Amino acid sequence: MTITIIQTVLPIFLEEESQDKEVPAILNQRLEKSLRECEMICDHAGIKTGKITEIRVNPLLRSAWGRCITDRINGTHRIEINEALLDNSVPELSLKRTIIHELCHTVKDGHGHKKGWREAADRLKKVYGLQLSPANSAEELSVPRSLSQEPAIRYVFRCADCGQIIQRSRRSKFVENPERYRCGNCGGTLEQL
Ligand SMILES: [Zn+2]
Ligand SMILES: [Zn+2]
Repeated sequence: MTITIIQTVLPIFLEEESQDKEVPAILNQRLEKSLRECEMICDHAGIKTGKITEIRVNPLLRSAWGRCITDRINGTHRIEINEALLDNSVPELSLKRTIIHELCHTVKDGHGHKKGWREAADRLKKVYGLQLSPANSAEELSVPRSLSQEPAIRYVFRCADCGQIIQRSRRSKFVENPERYRCGNCGGTLEQL
């Protein structure tokens, strides 16, 4: 029997699988509009933000409200936002605070929450009274509990060779056809538990 290895799976490959779930285009359009407003807010405060090539909802992003991914080759940035922040029950300001938080990561020395990020955050506080912190609770962003909870793990797989455990909460190409995937550590086959 011949098996075509299509893709190996590691827990950190969540991002690629998120392509499986369609995010309504209108949500990403709203993000683009909010991004432009946030860039203006930073600009008015004299903060020089980096170039953002894309902002989008990542439906699998649960452990953070947003994140900023920097292309190490050309220095541009991509921002991903937790979809809970786009729910109608969540104030626009919570979304903007998150986008501005991520924009502060695009300034010079802005990675982490030290130097560049801290200076930009202090500046926004001085100019607008805007409080940015390294991490915000759901309460601070007025995100209802029902939206902020981690989804239950519904699918668990184990590598038959190295024992790596892979957990998923949503249906995806991988979950539906695990036999077409191999362990990202060792190339072993994955068995569903
Ligand atoms: Zn941050
Ligand atoms: Zn393995």
